[in-house]
Amino acid sequence: MAYVISDDCIMCGACAAECPVEAISEGDGKYVIDPDTCIDCGTCAATCPNEAIAPE
Ligand code: SF4
Repeated sequence: MAYVISDDCIMCGACAAECPVEAISEGDGKYVIDPDTCIDCGTCAATCPNEAIAPE
């Protein structure tokens, strides 16, 4: 399981800056999480100002 970023992403980049394993990168219109790198820590979900990140 990994965390997933929804279309509510506003491209602020806050999550990418906080991810301890650098699993988050800028995608097309929103940020994306690499499920193979994500360790399910939840830091990004707590950081998102728009509640766009949730467990898959
Ligand atoms: Fe990174 Fe943790 Fe979010 Fe996974 S849950 S993308 S490891 S901050």
